[in-house]
Amino acid sequence: MVDCYVYPVRQFHAAEDYKRPAGTPVYAMADGRISFSGPAGGYGWLITIDHPQANLYSLYGHISPSRWKLETGTEVKRGDLIAYLGDSDENGGSEEAPVEPHLHFGIRAGQTADYPARGEWRYMAGWIRLCPQDLGWLQPSVVIASQEIPAGGYPQPKVGFLTRWGFELLITSIYTVGAVSMLIYGVRKMHRFLLLFPGILVVAAGIVFHNNGMIGSYTLLVIGILILAVGIYYFIQRSIPKPLNRS
Ligand SMILES: [Zn+2]
Repeated sequence: MVDCYVYPVRQFHAAEDYKRPAGTPVYAMADGRISFSGPAGGYGWLITIDHPQANLYSLYGHISPSRWKLETGTEVKRGDLIAYLGDSDENGGSEEAPVEPHLHFGIRAGQTADYPARGEWRYMAGWIRLCPQDLGWLQPSVVIASQEIPAGGYPQPKVGFLTRWGFELLITSIYTVGAVSMLIYGVRKMHRFLLLFPGILVVAAGIVFHNNGMIGSYTLLVIGILILAVGIYYFIQRSIPKPLNRS
């Protein structure tokens, strides 16, 4: 383990790198379930596997996007082939800036869903500014060499409420405040477009964020449907011709 409090280093590598040629097979380190398998920025392709029996997840970066690989949700056994290492121009590198073929291998306490998708605590982090062990990252070779799983699994670090949910709260608030403002304006002016658009916008945002793995997207969907219902109510009110004044 790096002693983060002795070495004044600002960027930490939260994993170990294994240099092997492109096309080298990559195997699951333990039984588990693939929690992510997809393109991921500087990794080219990234795979993570949850191992609930040890409360760990393992992370395999710089995988080949063009070769065969397992999909998210697949159950794996220890030693199962999961993918192959990528070429220098598809593993997060490009023809102009190639990345030497290697496996970026990380192990962390907890399950991928315990961590956010952004920020220092993000589940797919490769380089971080904070001390890796404070964020639950373990040294892979030490974990594998020890073969000893603590009773109840590895204890994961506490993630602060705002660290975990801050981004989703911000997104949900922005869309809700924006849509409600538009709806109020639409009701006051009896503006047909602004009666229906805010609800449709929030429902569409909820679907997009849901597909991007945002858990708070369910809240956004419910809010969107409520706003749409109010909008439709006033839309119908407006469409009904006012009764003639017969007096
Ligand atoms: Zn690395």
